[in-house]
Amino acid sequence: MANRAFSTGNGPQTKLSRCSSSVGDSGTDKTKVGWTSPRDIWRNLSLRRKAELQSKRELFFKSDTVSGGGVSASVPPSAAPPAPPSTLKDALSKRSATLPEPQETNHVEANGIATKHSNSVSVDVSKPPSTAPPPTPAPPVPISAPPAPVPTPLRSTENIMKKAEHPPVAPKPDLPKIEKPKTKELDGYVGFANLPNQVYRKAVKKGFEFTLMVVGESGLGKSTLINSLFLTEVYDKDKHPGPSLRVKKTVGVETSVVLLKENGVNLTLTIVDTPGFGDAVDNSNCWQPIIDFVESKYEEFLNAESRVARKAAPPDTRVHCCLYFIAPSGHGLKPLDVEFMQRLGDKVNIIPVIAKADTMTPEECKDFKEQIMKEIGQHKIKIYDFPESTGEEGDGADVTKSLRARVPFAVVGANTVIEQDGRRIRGRKYPWGIAEVENLEHCDFLALRNMVIRTHLQDLKDVTSSVHYENYRCRKLAGLSHDGKPHRTNSNNLCPQGLMNSFMTVWNPLAQMEEEKREHDLKMEKMESEMEQIFQTKVRDKRAKLKESEAELARRHEATRRALEAQARELDERQRALNAERAAWERDTGLSLDDLRRRSLEANSKETVDGKEKKDKKKKDWSFKSVATGISI
Ligand code: GDP
Repeated sequence: MANRAFSTGNGPQTKLSRCSSSVGDSGTDKTKVGWTSPRDIWRNLSLRRKAELQSKRELFFKSDTVSGGGVSASVPPSAAPPAPPSTLKDALSKRSATLPEPQETNHVEANGIATKHSNSVSVDVSKPPSTAPPPTPAPPVPISAPPAPVPTPLRSTENIMKKAEHPPVAPKPDLPKIEKPKTKELDGYVGFANLPNQVYRKAVKKGFEFTLMVVGESGLGKSTLINSLFLTEVYDKDKHPGPSLRVKKTVGVETSVVLLKENGVNLTLTIVDTPGFGDAVDNSNCWQPIIDFVESKYEEFLNAESRVARKAAPPDTRVHCCLYFIAPSGHGLKPLDVEFMQRLGDKVNIIPVIAKADTMTPEECKDFKEQIMKEIGQHKIKIYDFPESTGEEGDGADVTKSLRARVPFAVVGANTVIEQDGRRIRGRKYPWGIAEVENLEHCDFLALRNMVIRTHLQDLKDVTSSVHYENYRCRKLAGLSHDGKPHRTNSNNLCPQGLMNSFMTVWNPLAQMEEEKREHDLKMEKMESEMEQIFQTKVRDKRAKLKESEAELARRHEATRRALEAQARELDERQRALNAERAAWERDTGLSLDDLRRRSLEANSKETVDGKEKKDKKKKDWSFKSVATGISI
C-alpha cells in the first residue's frame, strides 16, 4: 500500500511536503539535500516500531468504504498532484507516520525502501531552493475536499420508500446557490490530517458490537459454522449447546454474547439462534417469533433514541446479519425457505448459505446455486446485496468482485484441525480425502468469512441502520404494522397525500394532536364510566346497609312491642286477681269498699268539725279577756 504511494513519479515531492510540515524543527535541515543524517537513520529505526500499529490500522480501515473520486476531484487542476493517494486508507497509512512526535513523522515502510526514502530532505515547500523544481505540493489526505455525493441510492428501499406521485408538501424555497469552497494550499502542517487517527483511537477504545442471527433447520451445521467463523467455541458445548441439542416443539429465539479480542480490537458478538425453526410437522408461522425478535430490537433502539435523557450512542442490539441455512438438497428452495426470506428480506440483511456443501460435487453445487439465485429472483426475495466496491482498488476490488459472485455461499463447517504434510488444516476427514474448510476450491467458507467479517461488517451495520431500521421507524411513525397495513382503524395521523415519501409527508402533527385529543377523550370517558360504576356500587352498599338497619329496627320494635304486651297481660292478670280478692273480702266482711270509703270520709269530716268548734271557742274566750284588760290583739 505504501509502495503504491511512493511509486509515483513525483513521489519525493509529495513526501517532502509531508516532511517539512511535520518535523517542525527543520530549520537546520532545510538546506540539506541528498545525504543521510544520523538523525534520519535513527528515525528510520524508530519507524520500524510503527509497523505493528500500522498493521492494526490497516485491519481497522480495511472495511471502510471511501469514495475514491473524492481526492482527485477536489484538487484544482493547476496544483494537481501527479498521483495523489486515492483512498483514505492510503492517505492514513502515510499520515499515520506524521504524528506530532518528531521521531514518528516520516512515513517509511519497514522494508528495504526505508533508507532510500529517509534520505528525504526537510525542505519547506513555501521556500523551495532555487535548484528545486517548481513546488507542486500534494495534500496527503483529502484535507479540504468536500465529500463527493454518493452516486448510488440506498439499497433495497425501492419497495418501501416509493416516491409519491403528488407534489411535495411545501414548495421548495429558492435558496441561494452555495458556492463550492475553494481549495487552499497550506504553508505548513496544521494537524487536522490527524483526524482519522483520532477516529481510529476512539473507535478502538469504544469497541465494536455485531449481532449475527443464524436460521435454519436443526442439524444443518449452524453451530459448527459459527465456531469455525470466529475460530473459537462460541457455542460452548457444556454451557451452551448448539441449536440442534435444544430442539423445541415451538420456535424459540435465544441469544449468546461473547467478547472477542483480536490485535487489541474488541468485538462484542451476539449470536442469535432460533432452535426449533422448521422442525415441526406444521411450520406455518414459525417465522413469526423471529420477526417479533428483530422488530423488538428496533423498538428498543427507537425507544432509547427518543428518550428525553438519551445516551449519545444507545447500545446497538439490532440484528445486523442473518445467515439463512439452505439444506443441500440440490432441488432448489423449499416453500419454507421462500416464505421466510420473503418475510424477513426487508427487515434484516439476509445472506443465504448452502449448508454442508461437502455433500455435493462441484457441478451439483454450481447448478444448485444457479437454481437458488433463479428462485430468489422469481420470488422477488430481497437478500443482502454486497456492494461491488469497498473503496479498495486493484487486487482488493477484484477479489471482492470474485467473492461476491459466490453468493449463495456453499459452506463446510468443522471444528477439528487435521495435521497433513506438516500443515494444520481445519476440515472434515473422509476416507477419500479431506474437505478443507478454508480452501476456496473446496467451499465458499473463506469467501463468506472475508465478506461478512473482514470487508463488509461495517456495511452490514450501515445498511441495518440506514435501510431496515429507517423502514421500521417510518412504518412505526406512520402507524403501520410489519405487514404494511395500518395499525389503527382510524389512521387520521397519516397525511392524505400519501404515505411513503418521506418522514415529513408521513407525519402530520395536527392530525396527531387530534388523535391524542381523541385518545384523551376516550380516556376521560372510560374514567367517567369507571367512577359511575364506583358510585353505583357505593349507593348499592349504602342501600343494603340502610335496609339492614331498617330490619334491625323493625326487629327491635317488634321485640319491644312483644315485651310491652306481655307486661300489659301481666298487669291485667294482677288487676283481675285484685278484683277477685276485693270481691272475696267484701263477701267475707259484708261491707263494700264504697261503704267503707264513705264511712271513713264521714268520720274524717266529723273530726274536722269538732276540732274547729273548739278552736273558735278558745278564740272567743281570749278576745273577751283582752277587752276586759284593755289589751288589743
Ligand atoms: P445445528 O443444529 O444446525 O447447529 O448443527 P450442528 O452444528 O450441531 O451440526 C450437526 C451435525 O452436522 C454435526 O454432526 C456436525 O459435525 C455436522 N456438520 C456440521 N457442519 C457440517 C458440514 O459442513 N458438512 C457435513 N458433512 N457435516 C457437518
